[in-house]
Amino acid sequence: MAMIGTRAVILRRIPFGDTSWILHAFTADEGAVSLMARGARRPGSPMAGAVEPLGLSEIVVSVKPGRDLQTLSQATAVSQREGLRRDLAATAGAMLCAEVVLRMAREPGAHPGIFAVLEDALSEFDARGFRGPILWRFLSRFCEEMGWALAVDHCAHCGTEELPRDPVFSLPYGGFLCRACGTLSHEPHLHPMFAQALRESARGAQGDWSRADSERVEDLWLEHLFRHSQQRPRLESRQFLAEVRP
Ligand SMILES: [Zn+2]
Repeated sequence: MAMIGTRAVILRRIPFGDTSWILHAFTADEGAVSLMARGARRPGSPMAGAVEPLGLSEIVVSVKPGRDLQTLSQATAVSQREGLRRDLAATAGAMLCAEVVLRMAREPGAHPGIFAVLEDALSEFDARGFRGPILWRFLSRFCEEMGWALAVDHCAHCGTEELPRDPVFSLPYGGFLCRACGTLSHEPHLHPMFAQALRESARGAQGDWSRADSERVEDLWLEHLFRHSQQRPRLESRQFLAEVRP
């Protein structure tokens, strides 16, 4: 049995028996892992503060090869992200990032880029409260890390950087289309303001657009993610965010 120490973000936890948790975590060194945290729900358990969802912890896992569920041996909280507890919208934003990683980054093995993208977004929500650009930057970087970067600065089909102000946005092609390639698609042209919003959102910039436009930008990012991952999970935190965002 090997012991592995790594940093982990707790994505979700499910009660098991009377005293334990099953944790789904994303780790810096091992990627997505499922862990049995025996006894962690007992009052006074030394692991109690380190198995909170959205928290960052230093963990030690005893690994038995070939098992889907490994055993959590030790856990120490690095950050419990107290800031999230004071801000419901920031919590909802952080939950959405965690849920996207939980549902879509399931390939076994290390993916330090995804860990960094997730950890950056959660730390920012914790420190600054809810900001749309934190979420957009997360979605944009997550797509890049998964190999599904959205083409917003060049044509997704031919690569030219000469884009019209109202490009066609094509989900099958994975981004904007130039004037010529736009004729290949039956998808609609974007309004210039909205094309600009989508481009700025990829950089995590805050433009002067409405909450409805912000939500539409996020919908397009999520549609793009769903299409490439070939799955359409029901993201519960998306609904929660819609209810509490300022
Ligand atoms: Zn083109």
